[in-house]
Amino acid sequence: MQMILRRATTKAMVSFPRFLKGSELSVWPGMKQLFLRKNILYAFMSLFSMPFKTLRSVRRTIGGVSNFCSTTKIQSPLLIELVPCLQDNYAYLLHDVESGIVGVVDPSEAVSIIDALNKKNWNLNYILNTHHHYDHTGGNMDLKERYGAKVIGSVLDKERIPGIDIVLNDGDKWMFASHEVLVMTTPGHTRGHISFYFPGSKSIFTGDTLFSLSCGKLFEGTPQQMFSSLSKLTSLPDDTNVYCGHEYTLSNSKFALSIEPGNVDLQSYAVQVAHLRNKGLPTIPTSLRKEKLCNPFLRTWSMEIRKSLNIPESADDAEAFGAIRQAKDNF
Ligand SMILES: [Zn+2]
Repeated sequence: MQMILRRATTKAMVSFPRFLKGSELSVWPGMKQLFLRKNILYAFMSLFSMPFKTLRSVRRTIGGVSNFCSTTKIQSPLLIELVPCLQDNYAYLLHDVESGIVGVVDPSEAVSIIDALNKKNWNLNYILNTHHHYDHTGGNMDLKERYGAKVIGSVLDKERIPGIDIVLNDGDKWMFASHEVLVMTTPGHTRGHISFYFPGSKSIFTGDTLFSLSCGKLFEGTPQQMFSSLSKLTSLPDDTNVYCGHEYTLSNSKFALSIEPGNVDLQSYAVQVAHLRNKGLPTIPTSLRKEKLCNPFLRTWSMEIRKSLNIPESADDAEAFGAIRQAKDNF
């Protein structure tokens, strides 16, 4: 059943845009009919968008690769496919349907990515790295050699990201096919950490800065830096999908509940997370809305959290954040 649904979705995602291609427009009798048909097409896409969103949390393909879809422009959908790597890492394949351009975010290892690409018969054009850690860049050199893909990362990590070709700065706009990608520096976990924001697809790749129900450890940054990075992320629209670097959500939920047990949104999310993980399904993507409601690192103002950790009311958000981070490190 799941496979059938997945196939149907993929077919729909791929074939709808092709209806709009020039060669097929010529068979339509006139502009009036064309307009009508385009509206029908839009209505169709709207009709299908609900099941797509519902499906993406429960679908799973053979081999443990889950497939997520997100459409923004009918002419050029961006497919995002989650690829489990190593113990608990996630890499993400990005596929622009119109151009066939493919990227991968944070390939921990080459073999899982090659398998996923082979299944789709896709090439690989770009490797996007959020930061230099080995469990985010371990596949870079093999993939680069095999596919000739260009490696993209922060200018601050140009000496640390293997095979880096294109260096980016905070606020840079980079194009992945027709999709605008905004580069946001998000230091704290490492000093060169960046997040890739695709506003047109309402999606952000946060690496080890923001996890579901937690954030990355502060290896090369201060609590103030990480708090500022998280604040940048939470300034984006609430319906932004968050694709992070690890599946840590279940264990994160235990810490979150220990310091804010009265948070009803967190309680229900924790149940949902346990249910997904029991079935071996990913909890990612999450959304900024959900994280703002449930993630203790984004809730430094919560009196319940402050009481749990003896954080004074007078402490500012960065101080409270530091105390929550320390408590999590010792949990
Ligand atoms: Zn890391």
